[in-house]
Amino acid sequence: MALRQILNDNHPALRNPTNEVKKINKGVLRLLDDMIETMHEAKGVGLAANQVGVPKRILVALVMSEDGEAEKIIELINPVCEGAEGEELGIEGCLSVPDQCGEIPRATKITVRALNREGREVFLEAEGLLARILQHEMDHLDGILITDKAVRLIDPEELQSEEKS
Ligand code: ZN
Repeated sequence: MALRQILNDNHPALRNPTNEVKKINKGVLRLLDDMIETMHEAKGVGLAANQVGVPKRILVALVMSEDGEAEKIIELINPVCEGAEGEELGIEGCLSVPDQCGEIPRATKITVRALNREGREVFLEAEGLLARILQHEMDHLDGILITDKAVRLIDPEELQSEEKS
């Protein structure tokens, strides 16, 4: 595994289209491993492949258990949002937008279809924070940043704790 460099918001890789993964080969598996390591190192809760300069539709996310002890990694290849319910405002940071946080409306609950690293189709129902993280990462794959969607931008120093993805 290796750390990859996280690009910031003036980099074109964050705005260019990303491509569907046609074949899950060793390079894709290595990318997934590297993305997880890079996300941990940056203390992030999610990362999209184009944030590390790879234009593929791949994301990883970190879910904490309710007691905040155990954590689970979610890896999604070619994720597609198949359903969304509700809407709520929440504050998000972004590893690629270090100087700003944004208050952003997101669906409360979503259903996502994707492939896992074995190439099997998976359906994931997510709500709350995980639903927010997944919508944030899927936006990255479409070249969308928090600065595009925020109803209000906030200086991160005004926030006590923030979760960045
Ligand atoms: Zn982000």
